[in-house]
Amino acid sequence: MLRTHRVLYSQAGPSSGDWQPLNFDGEAFHLKGTGELARALLVLRLCAWPPLVTHGLALQAWSQRLLGSRLSGALLRASVYGQFVAGETQEEVEGCVRQLQALGLRPLLAVPTEEEPDSAAQTGEAWYEGNLDAMLRCVDLSRGLPESPDLAGKTLMQLKVTALASTRLCKDLTSWITKPGVSSELSPERLAEAMDSGQNLQVSCLNTEQNQHLQASLSRLNQVAQYARDQQVRLLVDAEYTFINPALSLLVAALAVRWNSPREGGPWVWNTYQAYLKDTHERLRRDAEAAHRAGLAFGVKLVRGAYLEKERKVSQLQGTEDPTQPDYEATSRSYSRCLESMLSLVSHHGPMCHLMVASHNEESVRQATKRMWELGIPLDGPVCFGQLLGMCDHVSLALGQAGYMVYKSIPYGCLKEVIPYLIRRAQENRSVLQGARREQALLSRELWRRLLGRAE
Ligand SMILES: Cc1cc2nc3c(=O)[nH]c(=O)nc-3n(C[C@H](O)[C@H](O)[C@H](O)COP(=O)(O)OP(=O)(O)OC[C@H]3O[C@@H](n4cnc5c(N)ncnc54)[C@H](O)[C@@H]3O)c2cc1C
Repeated sequence: MLRTHRVLYSQAGPSSGDWQPLNFDGEAFHLKGTGELARALLVLRLCAWPPLVTHGLALQAWSQRLLGSRLSGALLRASVYGQFVAGETQEEVEGCVRQLQALGLRPLLAVPTEEEPDSAAQTGEAWYEGNLDAMLRCVDLSRGLPESPDLAGKTLMQLKVTALASTRLCKDLTSWITKPGVSSELSPERLAEAMDSGQNLQVSCLNTEQNQHLQASLSRLNQVAQYARDQQVRLLVDAEYTFINPALSLLVAALAVRWNSPREGGPWVWNTYQAYLKDTHERLRRDAEAAHRAGLAFGVKLVRGAYLEKERKVSQLQGTEDPTQPDYEATSRSYSRCLESMLSLVSHHGPMCHLMVASHNEESVRQATKRMWELGIPLDGPVCFGQLLGMCDHVSLALGQAGYMVYKSIPYGCLKEVIPYLIRRAQENRSVLQGARREQALLSRELWRRLLGRAE
C-alpha cells in the first residue's frame, strides 16, 4: 500500500543547506575530450540543417552508391552513428556505458525498432517474435552491464509496445475502449488474468485472427516483464500516437496489475505521459489515483512528446480536434503542472511512486531539482532524469556531477538498422534539433577556449 514517506525524506533528503541552482553553462564539458566535443558540434550543426533531416535516407543511399558501403559506413560511424548510438556489439555497448559512468551517467538501453514493416501482416507473428528476442536480449544486456560502485542504482530499459503488438490491433482496441460504456470487457484485470493463465481471451470487437494476435501479444509483453522482473530491470514503456495510446496504456495497466503489486516491490512497469497532449494532466491524476486505490506502485516517464507534426496532420486530415497543446508555451506549462503533481505524489508516497523527468529543457530540469530540494526528496530516491545519448550533455553532465540520477537513452544495433531509425527520430524531433543552438554555442565556446589555450 502507498504510505507516506515524507518524514523519512525530509530527514535523509538534500534539504539541508541552501538550494544551489544548477549551472548549465557548459562548465561540465571539461569532463569530455576535444574530439568528442568537436564531433558533437559538427553533428548537431548538421542535424539542425532541415534538408539533411528531410532527405536523410535518400542521402544515405546516394553516399553508399558514390563512396561504397565501407567508406560511407565509416563516415557515418565517425559522425551521426558515433554521436547517438552506443555501438553494435556487446563490447561496444559496454565501452560506451563505461564512458558514461565515468561521467556520472547511467544507461537506459532502447532497442531501435522501426515502425512495423508493411510485410509484417504477411509474415504473421514472426516479426513480433523476432522483436521479443531482441527485447529479452536487451534485458540481459541491461542486467549484464558493468556497474560503477559510485553509481549503484536501478537498472532501467525502454520498451516499445508496437514492437510486440501490431499498430493495427492497438488502433482497433483504441477505437473500442474510447467508446463510452463498452470498455468493461477490456479491463486491465481481465487482460492481466489472460497474460498469467495463457488462456485464450475472446474480445467481441475483434475477429478470430485479431483475438489470436492479442493473446500472442499479451504473452510476449508478459514474457518481457517477467524476465525483466527476474533480472531486476525496470521497463519504461514508450508513449506513441494518440490513435493507439489508449490501447498502450491499457496494456501497461494490465502489466501493472501483475508486476507493480506490493509483493513485487516497486514499479517494474512504467508508463509514459506526453505533456503536449491537452488531456495529459487529467489522465495522470486519474491513473495515479487508480494505482493508489488498487494498492499498486506507480512509475512515470514524463516527456513533452515527440509526434507533434504527425498528430496535427492526422487531426487536420480527419477534421477532428487537435489533441495537442496550441503552442510550445502551453506544452511547457502542461509539463510543469504534471511535474509538480508527480513530485508531490513522490514526496507523499515515496518508493511506491517513481518518476523520470525525461527532458532536455533546462527550465524543467531546474524546476524538478528545486522542488526535489523543497520537498526533501533525496537525490538517489525515486526521481531520476533522462536525456538522449549525444544530446544536451551540458544538462546531463551538470546533473550527474551534482549527484542526481541521470540516464542516457541509448539505442544500439547495426548501422543498417539504426540509421533509418535515427533519421525518423530526427524527423520527429526536428524542432528539438533546431533548438539545440544553445548547446552548439556552448560547445563552440569550449572548443575555442581549448584552441586558444585559455584557462577560465
Ligand atoms: C529519455 C527519453 C525518453 C523519451 N520517450 C518518449 C516517448 O516515449 N514518447 C514520446 O512521444 N517522446 C519521448 N521522448 C521525446 C520527448 O517527448 C521530446 O520530444 C524531447 O525530449 C524534446 O522535449 P524536451 O522537453 O527535451 O525539449 P524542448 O526543446 O523544451 O521541447 C520540445 C518539445 O516541445 C513541444 N513543442 C514544440 N513546439 C511546439 C508547439 N508549437 N506546440 C506545442 N508543443 C510544442 C514538443 O513536444 C517538442 O518535442 C523521450 C525523450 C527522452 C529524453
